[in-house]
Amino acid sequence: MEHKRSQAIYEEAVKYIPGGVNSPVRAFKSVGIDPIFIDRAHGSHIWDVDGNEYIDFICSWGPLILGHSNERITEGISEMIAKGTSYGVPTQIEVEMAKLIVEAYKGVDQVRMVNSGTEATMSALRVARGYTGRNKILKFEGCYHGHSDALLVKSGSGTITYGVPTSPGVPADVVKHTLVTPYNDIEALEEIFKTQGEEIAAVIVEPIGGNMGVVPAKKDFLLALREITKKYGTVLIFDEVITGFRIAYGSSREYFDIEPDMVCFGKIIGGGLPVGAYAGRKEIMDMVSPVGPVYQAGTLSGNPLAMYIGKKQLEVLRDNPQIYKELEEKAIYLETGIKAHLKELGLNYHVARAGSLVCLFFTDQVVRNYQDAMTCDIERFNKYFKALLEEGVLIGPAQFEAMFLSTAHTKEDLDKALEAMGKALRIAHQ
Ligand SMILES: *Cc1c(COP(=O)(O)O)cnc(C)c1O
Repeated sequence: MEHKRSQAIYEEAVKYIPGGVNSPVRAFKSVGIDPIFIDRAHGSHIWDVDGNEYIDFICSWGPLILGHSNERITEGISEMIAKGTSYGVPTQIEVEMAKLIVEAYKGVDQVRMVNSGTEATMSALRVARGYTGRNKILKFEGCYHGHSDALLVKSGSGTITYGVPTSPGVPADVVKHTLVTPYNDIEALEEIFKTQGEEIAAVIVEPIGGNMGVVPAKKDFLLALREITKKYGTVLIFDEVITGFRIAYGSSREYFDIEPDMVCFGKIIGGGLPVGAYAGRKEIMDMVSPVGPVYQAGTLSGNPLAMYIGKKQLEVLRDNPQIYKELEEKAIYLETGIKAHLKELGLNYHVARAGSLVCLFFTDQVVRNYQDAMTCDIERFNKYFKALLEEGVLIGPAQFEAMFLSTAHTKEDLDKALEAMGKALRIAHQ
């Protein structure tokens, strides 16, 4: 497979953009190759500028649950553009979008649109802090909630429970209010609450970890989290930027039957355009400006084009509930096929699946948290990734990423991908 044009564009790109990319994972750095540059995509397939075709399991990292350029959601967008791309004055479609989200997610009354998942989590935390009058927040190791300062933390060593910055540029002072504890660990959670519960404004959690591979929370863990946050008057925030409208139309709220106090969305609700949102019960959302004192704003928030495509995507999902069952069946098919390859090769790797999210961990260990995920054989994964790419299958260029399925993936796609995976696994273990 040739990547001459990608290579040429990349050489130009690194002159003008840090690392040649606008988001680090796109640099393919962790798999040790140069990135491919994309020309176009349709359905479940994507083409690079050299004309190579791939079955796409990135799907823009989740937003494209109906596949690329699905006409059911893009239809009419030209007419929308002709009417103007942004006004900075309210539009009806923002109201329709908000209503759609509130109706889908049981327990929330109001929603504020923003422009990214990062903005959603950052704003939700501010609101939760304003609502409780407390400063501390708690997150779980390995969960990703965007790149705002307070959330770029990892756990400190030993008995220290507050986080340390994972990036230069984040002052230790800023993250000193961010506590970090292991995912799926009820005991550690209870321990933290015992000593600091009264000071914790919010707990933010991915109900299904999607940024350390795929690591579903145990239901008991989420139940314990719900109970303890209620007891201490702490706001429980589900970060559903990946899981929202993917794991079920009612998101993790429906999937686990557990109701958070606030929820963050992104990805799917924008159908591929830049969007985020945060929502909560009315008494909490009443804190948000201009009703309440907590400031949060956005020039392009609720952008009419993003609302148009996002709303249409949600409507398709709402009106075709069988989509979720079909997506899960495809994911099971993939999971089963991967496991068959592993068995044949005498490998005991962990295959994780939650709904339509799948991840092959290159470790024999069952992955329940970040520590477990860290046992993966990254070198072998990288060989596997490269071999897959050669075979025309594009997955996230890092071990700790989910494979995203869409309604556009056909059985033929999956069979082709599975055949490539068998081959790639063999190459990775030569
Ligand atoms: C992608 C993601 C974010 C960040 O969203 P951006 O739109 O990239 O800012 C936050 N939380 C989770 C769980 C995500 O997967």
